[in-house]
Amino acid sequence: MRVLIIEDEPGIANFLKEGLEEECFAVDVANNGREGLSMALSNDYDLLVVDWLLPGLSGVEVCRQFRKECPQVPVIFLTAKDTLDDVIFGLESGASDYIKKPFAFEGLLARIRVQLRTSFSGNPLLQAGGVEMNLAAHRVTCNGKDVLLTPKEFALLEYLLRNRGIVCTRSRIIEHVWDIHFDADTSVIDVYVNFLRKKLDVSGCTDLIETVRGVGYVIREK
Ligand code: CA
Repeated sequence: MRVLIIEDEPGIANFLKEGLEEECFAVDVANNGREGLSMALSNDYDLLVVDWLLPGLSGVEVCRQFRKECPQVPVIFLTAKDTLDDVIFGLESGASDYIKKPFAFEGLLARIRVQLRTSFSGNPLLQAGGVEMNLAAHRVTCNGKDVLLTPKEFALLEYLLRNRGIVCTRSRIIEHVWDIHFDADTSVIDVYVNFLRKKLDVSGCTDLIETVRGVGYVIREK
């Protein structure tokens, strides 16, 4: 899953980026409102984290303009304001949720997980064949046995599982699993799919990820 953080305080932005990357998210950062809105509209993010007070364009304005184009993508506000009026104002501008500064990373992560759960149909447990992925516990099992995945393998499997039954093109996989610094060589995806297949095969979950020649990959509904 790919997240855009729009936050002008470098300390907070880096803290969030590092924390979310450890949780296998692909993360981009914008440090002002205008750049953030432009990135949000030109990439296919799964979720936005937006600071309220930003140079260029306020978080509220970013959210309003983004909402006109992308009504489905969840937006979580970071705000030092905490009066009820401010909270209502933020939610009315289109935010899906908000968290008050200062906040604990785990609290924000939990809210992100809830938003991704509601914007996609699933529950925190993603399943297919004998594979089970528990997002909260960050654990993948294959026929009940643990499978150890690298962060990118985990993110790739999560994306395919969330889109079970839908053919995921290489370009969509790149949009959602890699960040903006990725150099767009789609053959890297094939390499990661092979890594993933080997690990799943060894644990007895063979043929989970199907190749759709010339297009991409799919985990079929079975
Ligand atoms: Ca700020």
